[in-house]
Amino acid sequence: MTQVAGPQPAPPRAQPAAERIGHWIAGRLVAGTSGRHGPVYDPARGRLAREVDFASAREVDEAVQAAARAFPAWRATSLSKRTQILFSFRNLVEAHRHELAALLTAEHGKVTSDALGEIARGLENLEFACGIQHLLKGDFSEQASTGIDVYSIRQPLGVVTGITPFNFPAMVPMWMFANALACGNTFVLKPSEKDPSASLLMARLLREAGLPDGAFNVVQGDRVAVDRLLEHPDVAAVSFVGSTPIARHIYETGTRNGKRVQALGGAKNHMVVLPDADVEMAADAAVSAGYGSAGERCMAIATIVAVGEVADPLVAAIRSRLPKVRVGDGSDPASEMGPLITREHRDRVAGYLDSSSAQGAEVVADGRAHELYGGEGFFLGVSLIDHVTPEMDCYRDEIFGPVLTVVRVPTYRDAVDLVNRNPYGNGTAIFTRDGGAARQFQFEVNVGMVGINVPIPVPVAYYSFGGWKGSLFGDLHMYGPEGIQFYTHAKVVTARWPDPGSSKIDLGFPRTR
Ligand code: NAD
Repeated sequence: MTQVAGPQPAPPRAQPAAERIGHWIAGRLVAGTSGRHGPVYDPARGRLAREVDFASAREVDEAVQAAARAFPAWRATSLSKRTQILFSFRNLVEAHRHELAALLTAEHGKVTSDALGEIARGLENLEFACGIQHLLKGDFSEQASTGIDVYSIRQPLGVVTGITPFNFPAMVPMWMFANALACGNTFVLKPSEKDPSASLLMARLLREAGLPDGAFNVVQGDRVAVDRLLEHPDVAAVSFVGSTPIARHIYETGTRNGKRVQALGGAKNHMVVLPDADVEMAADAAVSAGYGSAGERCMAIATIVAVGEVADPLVAAIRSRLPKVRVGDGSDPASEMGPLITREHRDRVAGYLDSSSAQGAEVVADGRAHELYGGEGFFLGVSLIDHVTPEMDCYRDEIFGPVLTVVRVPTYRDAVDLVNRNPYGNGTAIFTRDGGAARQFQFEVNVGMVGINVPIPVPVAYYSFGGWKGSLFGDLHMYGPEGIQFYTHAKVVTARWPDPGSSKIDLGFPRTR
């Protein structure tokens, strides 16, 4: 008997393959071949948006080889031509800033105005690099000895690499490659795997600006790519920005392999508020610097140090501002604060609200009460924790989320001692009307970047950026004049153009007198 088939379930519909983000090697986009990849989320909607290829050691080698091949011609290119290309790139970044900002918002989650602010600071680094001729000038001493001149020159290192964090996918790479390229180096960027698309847009614009193929390369990936860069014999220097444990690993491994390394790590930035401060101004600054970019900034204020009787009015003033902070999709112009980068990170941040109250602090505002918390996007509202002590987890750890903690101390001395005992030393700020107190603070605080009534004292592009203690491993800060030093070797030449008539043999040690 013939069986009559009943209705069959429809075959499972194939999921459309997620868009893949590849590498940029020798001037073109290259699909990954390692078979390894990672997710790139849309944090506002909490869903997978794309996938990023993870480079194998062999793919890293191809990028380094491309950079090594491009180096001799690029370093021989005139200073004027190099800076003209950077100038064209600067103009292209400005012309494409909305496209770039949209990528940052889509993958990082930060609000559009913040993304444009990041790009604006990156542009300042590019503008600085366009005037690099001044900083590459050497010294010249005529007649150091009779008929002998001595002069110094600065020369590029070769292939240099940048390994960057998720929180500034455009600006931090620009901190590095603007000066590196201007000095005549070639570059391999390993961006964060969490928001990799900005790197490829910048690569395309560099090519459009006239940068020769191979001078700038991008390898996407994770530890496999980083470890290969750290051991590759043709990589001369490593610039890193990220968390402290990884910064330490990068510094130790890179220097062990003979490379020049600057590794910027995490932070726990304190804002000291003295009793004479303008409380309303301090509260505005605390809210802006604590919750901007959802607290995912290495220069975010994490801890308010309230000195003496300022504590109660200050906490009240901050608290009164919290309901007005508009949390939402970063692409909505009404939003002031977007989601966090991943669900895991959001949950880790939220975990500090439980541990703080369990350890005796007072949770004044709990971001989990926000209507978007628990929805599809990786949102958490703003949180404020008072009566925090230095033993608590929420004080000791870098939370990297929209959580402000308040430590109350009786005196200025206690405030400075607290800041100086902290293992991090990235940024700090003091709020006061007392010039003498501010000057004393700047004199004795062990932190690399200090604000006086300025909560986020990120140095302008013609100074250099870097913390102290566990916030930086290495000697030189990033970008600005120290960036030029980092990306160049100094060479000193002693030269004589003798009069043949006065030439004679002299086996003595060279004398200058
Ligand atoms: P992260 O340390 O997790 O990652 C930074 C980079 O290192 C990424 O490219 C990542 O792929 C790579 N990486 C991660 N784990 C690695 C491993 N085991 N071995 C080798 N490479 C590895 O940092 P993040 O989460 O992307 O960024 C946030 C951190 O960066 C925060 O701690 C923040 O304070 C810090 N940060 C510091 C500064 C500064 O200037 N000091 C600036 C921005 C961000």
